[in-house]
Amino acid sequence: MPYPPRHLADLSMAERRDAVAALGERPFRADQLSRHYFGRHTDRPEDMTDLPAALRPELAGELLPSLLSADEVLSCDGGGTRKWLWRLFDGALMEAVLMKYPDRVTMCVSSQAGCGMGCPFCATGQAGLTRNLSIAEIVSQVVEGERVLASGRDPKAPPTATSRVSNVVFMGMGEPLANYARVVAAVRRLSAPVPEGLGISQRAITVSTVGLVPAIKRLAGERLTSRLALSLHAPDDELRDELVPVNRRWKVAEVLDAAWEYAAATGRRVSVEYALIRDVNDQPWRADLLGSLLAGHLVHVNLIPLNPTPGSKWTASRPGVQEEFAERIAAHGVAVTVRDTRGREIDGACGQLAAAPDRRNRDLIGRTR
Ligand code: SAH
Ligand code: SF4
Repeated sequence: MPYPPRHLADLSMAERRDAVAALGERPFRADQLSRHYFGRHTDRPEDMTDLPAALRPELAGELLPSLLSADEVLSCDGGGTRKWLWRLFDGALMEAVLMKYPDRVTMCVSSQAGCGMGCPFCATGQAGLTRNLSIAEIVSQVVEGERVLASGRDPKAPPTATSRVSNVVFMGMGEPLANYARVVAAVRRLSAPVPEGLGISQRAITVSTVGLVPAIKRLAGERLTSRLALSLHAPDDELRDELVPVNRRWKVAEVLDAAWEYAAATGRRVSVEYALIRDVNDQPWRADLLGSLLAGHLVHVNLIPLNPTPGSKWTASRPGVQEEFAERIAAHGVAVTVRDTRGREIDGACGQLAAAPDRRNRDLIGRTR
């Protein structure tokens, strides 16, 4: 894989100090650079007024190379949702979405450019995998979100939930656990305090997986407090084999066992994701079966109305079906909510990320190339 230029977000604090020392500078410069990047969200030499002017270009050039260039930025929901299409150093494309709510700001990040898991209802899955993202390519998506929020903030006002990224979900492009080591490192870096990292609560970070069983078990041993989301979409192997091809390798029972292991190790409720697809997985008996499989476990079900993708024969459930599905699950004593479809108009909702430049020009904020 062609590897992106080294960035300080790829490195631990000790490695950053070594890298600065290797450039002939004093190690504390690494702390200053880190504070600029993770605390003030800047990588511009002119902002680094605590560093001698002569040093700035070299240090920034060596440790803060620009990794993401915005090909396109779209917004909807009155500015409450924003989607970036990023071009990476090698031309690979990936997307990230920022969603503002009254009490929180969630950044939905990609872990890979594309995805190799081939779920037939997902736009990302249709294009296949381009490559894994580096730690810094993952972390810098969130830093870009912080930058946008800061640009609308009064510098003297205390940061509120809506002026900082409070939550991160790995629900953009890619299968996070197929890029395991970098994703785990990114979670640690996102949650480490400034200047080592971005200082986002680890509990507010969600890793969403299609169900790679050995990787879920390994993740349970990492001593993280992040949430795990499991994309189940069917309670029976026959249908899940079709909707989530990786199920042919690891079955529903195995993947749920791995999820319970994660819940036991972390004390966190696992979130089971279920995209409701009309007449495919939304029958009452499937709701009952799902409820009975999950009853008594540390779990929460998130129903997602299917976001139709181009060329797909599938669509969202009929009105009323979703409510009945939710009630049947709740009847087993299992917590259940229905996810909103934020960002749908800009193809920024779950499963719509295809890294295809937008040709409809809807609410296009900027195009840099
Ligand atoms: N690869 C990981 C994370 C990225 S997908 C995973 O699959 O979990 C993020 C979420 O979007 C997953 O729950 C996925 O199943 C869901 N999703 C994919 N396509 C969708 C679609 N067309 N409509 C609604 N949800 C979708
Ligand atoms: Fe990949 Fe997740 Fe889409 Fe499946 S749903 S193809 S695992 S991104």
